[in-house]
Amino acid sequence: MTLMDTAQTTSTNRGFRAFTARHLDRLTARAGLSPDERLAVRAVAEVLPFRTNNYVVDELIDWSAAPADPIYRLMFPQKDMLPEEDVDHIAGLLRRDAPRQEVQQAAHRVRMRLNPHPAGQMQLNRPVLDGHVLEGVQHKYRETVLFFPRQGQTCHAYCSYCFRWPQFVGEPGLRIAADDGGSQELVDYLLAHPEVTNVLITGGDAMIMSAAVLRQQVAPLLALEQIESIRIGTKALAFWPRKFVTDPDAGDLLALFEQVVRAGKNLAVMAHFSHPRELETPIVEEAIARIRGTGAVIRTQAPLIRSINDAAEVWESMWRKQVRLGMVPYYMFVERDTGPADYFAVPLARGYQIFRDAYAAVSGLARTVRGPSMSTTAGKVCVDGVVELAGRKVFALHLIQARNPDLVGRPFYAEYDPAAVWLSDLKPAFGDRFPLEESPDPEEPVC
Ligand SMILES: *Cc1c(COP(=O)(O)O)cnc(C)c1O
Repeated sequence: MTLMDTAQTTSTNRGFRAFTARHLDRLTARAGLSPDERLAVRAVAEVLPFRTNNYVVDELIDWSAAPADPIYRLMFPQKDMLPEEDVDHIAGLLRRDAPRQEVQQAAHRVRMRLNPHPAGQMQLNRPVLDGHVLEGVQHKYRETVLFFPRQGQTCHAYCSYCFRWPQFVGEPGLRIAADDGGSQELVDYLLAHPEVTNVLITGGDAMIMSAAVLRQQVAPLLALEQIESIRIGTKALAFWPRKFVTDPDAGDLLALFEQVVRAGKNLAVMAHFSHPRELETPIVEEAIARIRGTGAVIRTQAPLIRSINDAAEVWESMWRKQVRLGMVPYYMFVERDTGPADYFAVPLARGYQIFRDAYAAVSGLARTVRGPSMSTTAGKVCVDGVVELAGRKVFALHLIQARNPDLVGRPFYAEYDPAAVWLSDLKPAFGDRFPLEESPDPEEPVC
């Protein structure tokens, strides 16, 4: 009997089947893990969210290479993502079938030590209208507003490295989402802020919403003359391309995309691709072609992740394939320092080297990509290189995007440190502070 026959799955008429922690033991057995290793993975999955689906399991993961396979690693918790004593403790509870509440309390304590961002940070960019704070809206940059519809706060599968993991574990106070009626509030806010020309609909994954729900969010924006671009943040092309091809609302979704384009707006699908394997199935090619057929542009982005895509050849092949399929490489992000970040972090010096080697290997058409880029409170900090200046080895940096537009595009420097993984690890090379307007705390990039 196959896994598909026996697993208890959530099934709908579109053939989507989600696999969650309940299915972990069976899936990790398929990867060849021993019973103890499987128990440790289950322990990690009590703390960090796990969700995958039948497309990823059947068509993306190379099971003969698991558990080393990069797509397997993109999906599955690993026992060394958390401190060993925490894993041992929770594994012990699971082994003796401890009450759920006891397991959940232990998991909660571990989470609270994991920098469960974006809790505090979220206060920063929250817009106010008529004295009341808009939920699920962030005014990031002068021209750009992010919108998190309440119905878009999950994904077709969860990346093991996701910085938004607190959203998915049901910890109170860690969710970002608009209220019902959020799209009307958003319109009111935009009318009061004519400087905003870009709206970015994100989550979770904006493509988890049905076409009908997405239309409710998007349609009111089409009447606003000030709006030039609507962006949709999604990993669905990688994890559920059937959304655009065979799902019951695929036609309706593509019609909505056409409607946006006909209204004279740039529609940008901001597609998250972590690995070239995600571009290799016939259905993803078809999904890409259909989206492009509506007049939408697909721009691609992903973080650089240790053990999943930390090699120049991986990025080179991904960018080439993306250009071949008509997509536009946009950002390579630095993995942010939340959650099990130590596990996935790639030092900035090495990230820069990977970026440069891949960038040097592709044609100019793929050099639309920028990076490696850190999304910080002040803006997007790009590592441009390592240079000798006035006898010192330094990182050259610049802000690609900033809350304060005066700072965009001005070079600045940090002491070279081969171990630094984030802006907060860097020291200014000349002078005693970086020219960033605020504290260099992390902020969340857009998925
Ligand atoms: C990158 C990013 C944006 C969009 O910035 P662009 O430079 O216009 O692509 C918006 N919000 C956040 C949090 C981002 O990281």
